[in-house]
This record gives sequence, structure tokens and C-alpha cells, in this order.
Amino acid sequence: MSTIFTKIINKEIPAEILFENENVLAFRDINPQAPIHFLVIPKKEISTLNDLEETDKDIVGELFIVAKNLAKEEGIADSGYRTVFNCNEDGAQTVYHIHLHVLGGRQLNWPPG
Ligand code: AMP
Repeated sequence: MSTIFTKIINKEIPAEILFENENVLAFRDINPQAPIHFLVIPKKEISTLNDLEETDKDIVGELFIVAKNLAKEEGIADSGYRTVFNCNEDGAQTVYHIHLHVLGGRQLNWPPG
């Protein structure tokens, strides 16, 4: 089932896009939890990490390559950052289109809440 992220991919609703190619889109989180907080998503609709297929491994790898390139552009590569995929209810997933959170620009806590 499509989510609000499909609308962002299709430019039906606005987002502050940081990177786009044929497979991947990255944009700033609308409700940032750190000074830098952006999401890296596949254009392919994949609901949760549980739905990943063997053939998705290149796209998942690409999400991380885009994440680390943007972390450098955003100036948090050296200070550090966190990448997170939330999965289903206990993982606090709210949008059912997989997305890699990238958070940085402040000291993050561990363990997460
Ligand atoms: P999660 O809870 O892991 O599913 O994360 C969903 C994230 O999407 C949250 O951090 C939201 O703030 C973010 N989000 C929801 N709608 C939008 C939107 N229209 N543009 C940017 N980020 C959004």
C-alpha cells in the first residue's frame, strides 16, 4: 500500500530534497529529532524491513552509500551520526515505506528510548 512517501517521490507533496537518482530519494525529516535529520528511501515501495527480498540487496546498499555521502555534505561525517531503520510497532515505525533515518549534529544517547 502506498504511503505519504510515494507522494513525495511523485512530487505530489513538497519535501526538502537533498539527493535523488533513479533508485533513491533523500529528504529532510519534517519533525527533526536532531540538528541534522534526513531520510533516505528507495523509490521502490517496500513496507518494512521484513519485506526485503534477496533482489533488494543492491538498493539497500545504495541507501547507505547515499547516507554517508550526504552525512559528509551536511558536515556530520567526522563528528558522527546514527543510521536507523525502525520496523513495525515495537520499532516505532509510523510510515510503512522503508526509510533510513540519518541523525547527527548533537551527542545522541544510547541506549535509545
Ligand atoms: P518512522 O517512525 O521510523 O516510520 O519515521 C517516519 C518519519 O517520517 C518521522 O521521523 C516523520 O517525522 C517523517 N515524516 C513523516 N511525514 C513526512 C513528510 N511529509 N516529510 C518529511 N518527513 C516526514
